[in-house]
Amino acid sequence: RLRDEETTRRRLHNTIQELKGNIRVFCRVRPILPSDGLATADGAPASDSMPHIRYPEPNEIEIIQTTESASSGKTTAKAIPFSFDRVFPPRTDQLAVFEEIAQLVQSALDGYPVCIFAYGQTGSGKTHTMEGPDHPTEATMGMIPRAVRQIYAGAEALKAKGWVYTMEGQFLEIYNEAIHDLLVESPASSAGGNGTSPSGGVSTRKHEIRHITASKTIVTDATSVVMDSSDQVHTLLKRASKNRAVAATNCNERSSRSHSVFTLRLTGRNSASDEVSEGVLNLIDLAGSERLSQSGSTGDRLKETQAINKSLSCLGDVIYAIANRDSHVPYRNSKLTYLLQNSLGGNSKTLMFVNMSPLANNLQETLCSLRFATKVNSCHIGTARRNLK
Ligand code: ADP
Ligand code: MG
Repeated sequence: RLRDEETTRRRLHNTIQELKGNIRVFCRVRPILPSDGLATADGAPASDSMPHIRYPEPNEIEIIQTTESASSGKTTAKAIPFSFDRVFPPRTDQLAVFEEIAQLVQSALDGYPVCIFAYGQTGSGKTHTMEGPDHPTEATMGMIPRAVRQIYAGAEALKAKGWVYTMEGQFLEIYNEAIHDLLVESPASSAGGNGTSPSGGVSTRKHEIRHITASKTIVTDATSVVMDSSDQVHTLLKRASKNRAVAATNCNERSSRSHSVFTLRLTGRNSASDEVSEGVLNLIDLAGSERLSQSGSTGDRLKETQAINKSLSCLGDVIYAIANRDSHVPYRNSKLTYLLQNSLGGNSKTLMFVNMSPLANNLQETLCSLRFATKVNSCHIGTARRNLK
C-alpha cells in the first residue's frame, strides 16, 4: 500500500515536471541606473541591494512589503515570496543570462519551435535583455544577436554531418492589434524583399496571418530576409529600430506600446539521410505591462490601452491553457497569440523573462508582473492528477 502511494507520488511529480517541461520563467531584475536619481548622500551611486528585495535562492525572490497601521502608526513588514525557474539579480551580465537559454536556442536548430518573451513594465529592461543597448559591445549585446550567432555556429558545426541550413529573418511589430513590417526597405537598400514605404517608417500595408500547415505560418507581404551570416542580424536590428523610430514620431511611446516579434526560421536539409528539420526561433519584446487606466483615456489612447491589456492577458491565458493541457487554447483572441500559434503548444518550447525594476516606487507594478509570471509558470497539481488517469 505504501509502495503504491510512493509510486503515485513519484508519477505525480514526474507528470508535473513533464507538464512544466516546455514552459520556463526567468525573472531578471535590472540594476539601479544613474537616471533613477538615487545617489546616496555622499554622491556615490546607489547600491543595487534594495531593502525591499531579497534573493534567498537562485530561483527565488522575495518582495518585502511594509504597511503602516493607521491606528497605531506601527509599520509591519511582510515578505511575499515568488519562485521561478531562475532569478537573476542586478549585475547578472548578458552572457550569464544567455548561458541559461543557450540550450533552448539550440533546440530551434534541432527542429523545435521556440518562443522567448520579455514581459515587464516600461523601463524594466526588456529591450536591454532582448536586443542590448544601441551601441552594443561584446559584453552588452542582447539575447537576439547572441542567439543568432550561436545558431550560425551550430549550423556550421552540423555541416560535418551533412546538414545544410537556410535562415530567414522577419521582424514584425504588433501595434493596436495590427501587424507592421519593421523590415520594409528604403528604396536605396539592396537586400531582397518586397516592401517599400514612401513615407519611411513601418509600412501601412495590410498584413494577414495565414496558417499554411500545422507548422508553417506566413504573414502576407512581410519582408523575409535570407541571412547568410550572423553579422546580418545587426544590420537587420538597426533597420528595424530605424523604422520603429520613424513610426514613433507619430506616437512618442509607440515602442513601449507595441510588441516586436523577431522570427528566425531555420530549415535544415540533410542530403545524406534525406532528413529535413524545420525550427523557428521567435524573440518577442512585449509592450509595457504597466496597468493602463482606461479612465481618462479617450480616442486613440483608449484603443491602444485596450489593445495592450487584451493581448497581454490573452498571452497569459494561452500559456496557462497550454500548461494545463486545456482542450481549448484561445489563440485567436489576439493577433500576437494567433501569429505565434504554431510556435506555442505542441512540441514547442517557451521561455518568459519577467523583467523588473528594483525601485521601491515601482513596487506595485513589479508585484503585478511577478503575479502574471507566476500564473504563466503554474501548473495545477489537480491537472497533473487528472492527466495521470
Ligand atoms: P524596457 O525595454 O523594458 O522599456 P529598457 O531595456 O529600455 O527597458 O531598459 C531601461 C533602461 O535600463 C535602459 O537605459 C537600459 O539600458 C537600462 N538597463 C536595463 N537592464 C539593464 C541591465 N541588465 N544592465 C544595465 N542596464 C540596463
Ligand atoms: Mg523597450
